Amino acid sequence: MDSFTLQTYAQRILFDVDHLSALPDLMDDFGAHKVGIVTTRSHATSAASVSEALGSRHAATFAGAKVHTPVEVTRQALGQLAGSDAIISIGGGSTIGLGKALSLPTGARHIAIPTTYAGSEMTPILGQTDKGRKIVGRDDRVVPDAVIYDVGLTLSLPRDVSMASGFNALAHAVEALYAPDRYPEADATATASIANLVQALPAIARDPLDLQARRQAQYGAYLAGRVLAGRTMGLHHKLAHVLGGLFDLPHAPLHAVLLPHVVKFNEPVAMEALAPAAELLGRNTSSVGLACLADALGLPTTLSEIGMPRDGIHEAARLVVESRGANPRPYSEAEIVALLEEALGD
Ligand code: NAD
Repeated sequence: MDSFTLQTYAQRILFDVDHLSALPDLMDDFGAHKVGIVTTRSHATSAASVSEALGSRHAATFAGAKVHTPVEVTRQALGQLAGSDAIISIGGGSTIGLGKALSLPTGARHIAIPTTYAGSEMTPILGQTDKGRKIVGRDDRVVPDAVIYDVGLTLSLPRDVSMASGFNALAHAVEALYAPDRYPEADATATASIANLVQALPAIARDPLDLQARRQAQYGAYLAGRVLAGRTMGLHHKLAHVLGGLFDLPHAPLHAVLLPHVVKFNEPVAMEALAPAAELLGRNTSSVGLACLADALGLPTTLSEIGMPRDGIHEAARLVVESRGANPRPYSEAEIVALLEEALGD
């Protein structure tokens, strides 16, 4: 057994639970009296039900969460929800990111109710955008105090968003397999995450209302969030942050397009670490398996399809190399340019 260091977090996880029934007890346990809700406009109805379940504890709702957590949106929300002793974030990674950004300076308890497969609810990671630059940092204080996984909330997630978000989760698990910081259960957790996602996503593509498949995808996403929290991500996540911040590209589809390309780049040095993924994907290599899965799920396969401008390649490559992070295979600016040119498509 190798030695390892692992930071763990005190979180209460409620999996496959009706969120409205769970909230009153949770609020009692946390001693919350003035509760702010954050969400997006598309979740206004869910937010209204949460507010009803909170009764007199509900203080205010901020329904303006935006992708990549822009700092000016956080400022607005801080003003609107001032004095809250607990924040409930109900929505995807953008909403949960805002909940984290609010709980950090205020010390308010944070209860995350995820409705996508992004996995932010499990991590100490907070990415915020300021003037086109996405700044991603880790702070143990942003880990939500409680997470309620209610599969019913994922049924409305459109088919294409579900597939892309599922690939976002897959990206966490796949990059965890070749991460530099190892701890014993992480490989098993990442592999179990991939196994659940690879099985669930095609079933959801066939029938987005398949409750069992939705439950399985949510479980896979939860496991992916756990390894995202405990392991250092590589080039794939670095590229996604840089491109997302620079060109305001949609987060989950960006993951779907990039993942097969980055895995192909890393395979020459990480074939053994990636072997469980290749096996679960039923192909000789993980990159081919991921490309085939993305294609079968009808996901975008080129960066140009999701709005990346060709003339942005060099700036993106420069920023990726400048803010160099962990990756099993070292990379140069020219190699990133080549990878992005291939991913851009025609
Ligand atoms: P998102 O939260 O932006 O949601 C995408 C769209 O789907 C939005 O319009 C949203 O309103 C809608 N939506 C969400 N759930 C729905 C549902 N159940 N039914 C119908 N519509 C629904 O997208 P995302 O991919 O979940 O999150 C992306 C953001 O999360 C990015 O900012 C990314 O950086 C961040 N993120 C952070 C971490 C972390 O650990 N900090 C991890 C993953 C993602």
